[in-house]
Amino acid sequence: MSDRIIGPDSVSAPIPVREILPWIIFGLVMMLAIYFVGAEEGATSIIKGMYVHEWVHDSRHLLGFPCH
Ligand SMILES: [Zn+2]
Repeated sequence: MSDRIIGPDSVSAPIPVREILPWIIFGLVMMLAIYFVGAEEGATSIIKGMYVHEWVHDSRHLLGFPCH
């Protein structure tokens, strides 16, 4: 039996960075994907021209982002 007393004062171990790092990366990639699908057009575009917009155009309408 353990001699550690677990009670209201005990502090649970924090989530190790190794376990949450893949989820942080996944979240950032998904946010980037949503940006490119939803806002990569006109004044908010990073890449010049309509290449990205045309490439994700169907996804854009599928997700309900307005465009034309
Ligand atoms: Zn459109």
